[in-house]
Amino acid sequence: MEHLNPPLEPPDFAPGDPVAVVTAEGLDRLLDYRAPEGGARLGALVEVPLGPRRVLGMVWGPGTGDCAPDKLRDIGRVLDCAPMRPAMRAFLARAADYTLTPLTVMLRLATRAPGLGAPPAARPLLRLSGAAPDRLTPARARVLAAFAEFGNLGFAPQELARLAGVSTAVVKGLEAQGVLLREVAPRDPPYPALDQAAAPRPLSPAQGEAAAALRAAVGAGGYSTTLLKGVTGSGKTEVYLEAVAEALARGRQALVLLPEIALSVEFLDRVEARFGARPAEWHSGVTQAARRRAWRAVAAGEARLVVGARSALFLPFRDLGLIVVDEEHDGSYKQEDGALYNARDMAVLRASIEGAAVVLASATPSLETWANAEAGKYARLDLPERFGVAELPAMAAVDLRLDPPEQGRWIAPTLERAVGERLAAGEQALLFLNRRGYAPLTICRACGHQVGCDQCDARMVEHRFRHRLVCHQCGATKPIPSACPSCKAEGRMTALGPGVERLAEEAAALWPGARIAILSSDLAEGPRALKARIDEIAGGGADLVIGTQIVSKGHNFPHLTLVGVIDADLGLQGGDLRAAEKTFQLIRQVAGRAGRAERPGAALIQTHQPEHPAIRAILTGDDEGFWRAEAAARARAGVPPYGRLAGIVVTGADEARTWEVARALARAAGPLHAAGAELWGPAPAPIARIRGRHRVRLLARAPKGAPLQAALRAWAASVPVPGNVRVSIDIDPQSFF
Ligand SMILES: [Zn+2]
Ligand SMILES: [Zn+2]
Repeated sequence: MEHLNPPLEPPDFAPGDPVAVVTAEGLDRLLDYRAPEGGARLGALVEVPLGPRRVLGMVWGPGTGDCAPDKLRDIGRVLDCAPMRPAMRAFLARAADYTLTPLTVMLRLATRAPGLGAPPAARPLLRLSGAAPDRLTPARARVLAAFAEFGNLGFAPQELARLAGVSTAVVKGLEAQGVLLREVAPRDPPYPALDQAAAPRPLSPAQGEAAAALRAAVGAGGYSTTLLKGVTGSGKTEVYLEAVAEALARGRQALVLLPEIALSVEFLDRVEARFGARPAEWHSGVTQAARRRAWRAVAAGEARLVVGARSALFLPFRDLGLIVVDEEHDGSYKQEDGALYNARDMAVLRASIEGAAVVLASATPSLETWANAEAGKYARLDLPERFGVAELPAMAAVDLRLDPPEQGRWIAPTLERAVGERLAAGEQALLFLNRRGYAPLTICRACGHQVGCDQCDARMVEHRFRHRLVCHQCGATKPIPSACPSCKAEGRMTALGPGVERLAEEAAALWPGARIAILSSDLAEGPRALKARIDEIAGGGADLVIGTQIVSKGHNFPHLTLVGVIDADLGLQGGDLRAAEKTFQLIRQVAGRAGRAERPGAALIQTHQPEHPAIRAILTGDDEGFWRAEAAARARAGVPPYGRLAGIVVTGADEARTWEVARALARAAGPLHAAGAELWGPAPAPIARIRGRHRVRLLARAPKGAPLQAALRAWAASVPVPGNVRVSIDIDPQSFF
């Protein structure tokens, strides 16, 4: 058979050839199919039969030969989109290998847009041809009037009938007469072009120098990673947008990853101001239609800049020249369920395959990134000044051992005085407490019973605004009991410890005239409402802000001159290897909110251990000293970034079976030992039950260069796991709960 439009290049596989396909569903193995009429290209997205269903797949290579030629099923059809490029396929394969994630799951991550297989996206539009109708009925006159009223822009047939108030038969009649012409317009409108020269911002000398270095890195056209370190307000965004400008100028694509959706509204405005148009967006708040439009435009190379959350890293860029990971230390870059990957590390992997530049931007980089810069693997640029502001806030500790708040209160006298002074001066103050809700613990004063979640091994947190107890693990809620669930004593249930809601209650009693606002993720109705709330507060809509870690995420509060940290010790408790690092980052970020614009700021940090290295580093501003000490401690312990860890969690509804599997894994540790790794456990996880499933942990540690993944793969495969028990392996774990 002859093709009217033969493909420009011959297909990689001739019609009827056996080809191996990765499917986006089903088991983690390649399946053989027969190439369809017209053949198939490597990386083509296809629809294939899988059992009784048809599923999405990708042509991975020549057939594996697993399936007898006469049993081969046909590829259903080849989807109308560009085949995944070799670099994208290599990225998916290596990311799957690194994170021990099935390739099937990786393909799913890379194809998360609806209707990828739909025929050329188009919708019919009707326009006036200029011809007159044979007879002008009142209904026909209304159709013509609709065009006059709305301009001859073209209408979908249904839309035209509705606007004119006529039946679709009238519209069809006019089309049959040739009065209306049917045209096909693209359904996914193209993205407006970004102009890299539209409106460059004025840069300080330090910013200009850093921007030039980043432009050179992008211009060099190969792989590089640069740590862009700058304190809050130093103007990192303006600097890395110049790197984006360079990628655009060279005709390549750029990706900016942000840790939080709420930020992207503000960020998109900045991009528009710089480049004259909005970029493509990719995050959980984007509609299905917009996802499809973005995916296709990215694959076609038409969307030149994407701003998105971590999953944007799996978009099929055609020519990716730059990846920016903003706030690279942020914990939200680690995906904690399904495919367990760290978007920061995967960005570096992808860039190394694509020949792209990476910019890791942060005021408080992760120790991993700091160490890579120290070792010379990453370039490093420092933005020392706060753009437009002379000094960092003045930092001081409030030693809670010497200067404690009254019983049942959390604001120490020193902090109380400082807040009072700022409020009296008409300035804004912020109290930071990283605890949502009213109180972390509800306890019976008669018998000591603590209210826990029925499904989890976790205490329930009182949320007084909602009049409920809430489990922060699974989200379950119950009413606040008036009688003790255990001893039935009436009126003895007491809230213990502070949450932001309780702190707000204390503040309202101390400063009755102040307008107090609480910023907590559970009190906002989605990212846009949260952004509106933050804008209102930033504009002076509150005198005193009480916030959880959401306030640390780069929002600007120009009237804010005092930050009080209620409990700096909170994050230092518990055995997390990153406890000091995370506390340092979080408090540094929060304290950095004070004193933007031209007003000097101050930060007061309440702590029981002002001599702790993390707290001392915050107070003295000796970042480098802190990193060096922390790095030395990690190197001694052989933990990341100076050793490798993998967290293994065994979960199951049946406690005995869950433990059986965990013990069997511990006994079979041979492949791990052979690779130089140690295995600890099993032990009950710190949260030993979530949503009714028991959780048992093991931990593997290996020297830096050890082939840990291969060993883990062999080890996990050697132990049979019943269907109701799950083993998940987390490479480079960030959390240990
Ligand atoms: Zn009781
Ligand atoms: Zn729960």
